[in-house]
Amino acid sequence: MSKVAGKILIVDDEPDIVNLTQSFLQLENYNTLTCGDGEEALKIIEKHHDEIMLVLLDIMMPKVDGYKVLEKIKTNEKYKKILVILFTVKNFKFDIIKGKELGADGYLLKAISGKALLDYVKKILEKKVL
Ligand SMILES: [Mg+2]
Repeated sequence: MSKVAGKILIVDDEPDIVNLTQSFLQLENYNTLTCGDGEEALKIIEKHHDEIMLVLLDIMMPKVDGYKVLEKIKTNEKYKKILVILFTVKNFKFDIIKGKELGADGYLLKAISGKALLDYVKKILEKKVL
């Protein structure tokens, strides 16, 4: 299977999570962009939306949270090709429902292994989930 062209933007206010996630994705030769809060994420998306195919998005972040970023992506026609996976420690049903209502393409808990993360990213990019 050939790899889908495009970059994955990793957004999380915990640098360790960003670094670990980036390492896993780079092992599979995905191109990545990273940032540490929602405000910066929106700036990067505005500038690079043509290249970004997927956003791995933390929910709880300072300044602008993940729900707000998700909403901005999913309500802007320019960004309609961008897939979003919410990436979080939150796993309450309410949060999952809220994420789906705002148009999330998937939902990942941070506790998963690198292999599980890569498998899920591949599935989402093939649009097999949700
Ligand atoms: Mg966070």
